[in-house]
Amino acid sequence: MTQSGGAPAGEAVGINIILLGPPGAGKGTQAARLVEDRGMVQMSTGDMLRAAVKAGTPMGIAAKAVMERGELIADSIVSGLIGEALDATPLSTGIIFDGYPRTAEQAANLDALLAERGRRLDHVIELEVDEEALVDRITGRFSCAKCGAGYHDRYKLPKVPGVCDVCGSTEFKRRPDDVAETVRMRMAEYRAKTEPILPIYAARGLVRPVDGMADMETVEAAIAALLTAG
Ligand code: AMP
Repeated sequence: MTQSGGAPAGEAVGINIILLGPPGAGKGTQAARLVEDRGMVQMSTGDMLRAAVKAGTPMGIAAKAVMERGELIADSIVSGLIGEALDATPLSTGIIFDGYPRTAEQAANLDALLAERGRRLDHVIELEVDEEALVDRITGRFSCAKCGAGYHDRYKLPKVPGVCDVCGSTEFKRRPDDVAETVRMRMAEYRAKTEPILPIYAARGLVRPVDGMADMETVEAAIAALLTAG
């Protein structure tokens, strides 16, 4: 796909999409599929912040407690992370924004960051989900500590108990913010601060609703159909 914007004449610009939906809607899962199927790049501010926490950087140390409470990190920090990631990504590579933007301020930041680089938003894919079911989904999830493959206590246990189906590792991890109390705070933050950005994108004709309660393959097919249709 080509865009005009500030891109040099004739240079192909990758597609840019946002996956929007509350915690546990399947944004990370679907982003990983798009990376694999389409060679796009996933920009997850949650993953970037968790990496900073793990590395013990000053930003990570400051972010840790805020994340464990399920509250949002300052707009300027997450938008700074996205700006750096954009600078490291060739213009021809498509991008999936996962967990960003989460506030109206971040949405405005993203517009500016993209425009400065000759990119623009193509689709905002809204994963429509039932909140009650999400709490159940989130509080049971865990992943392989080595390869990151995702599992669930009730819906997707490893085929051999305690052994990762994908890489054979026997070490698993859970996110510290996937406990019920924090999940409720994350949902409240979503409703108060993130949901209000949907009408902004709807007014620009960018919102594509997808049933996020369907099984993963169906959601993947629905997103693929949207992207193929342009
Ligand atoms: P996620 O992995 O997207 O669910 O994010 C985990 C946590 O990281 C959130 O609950 C926030 O504390 C923080 N976080 C991630 N992305 C953002 C963002 N775009 N704005 C503010 N805080 C964020």
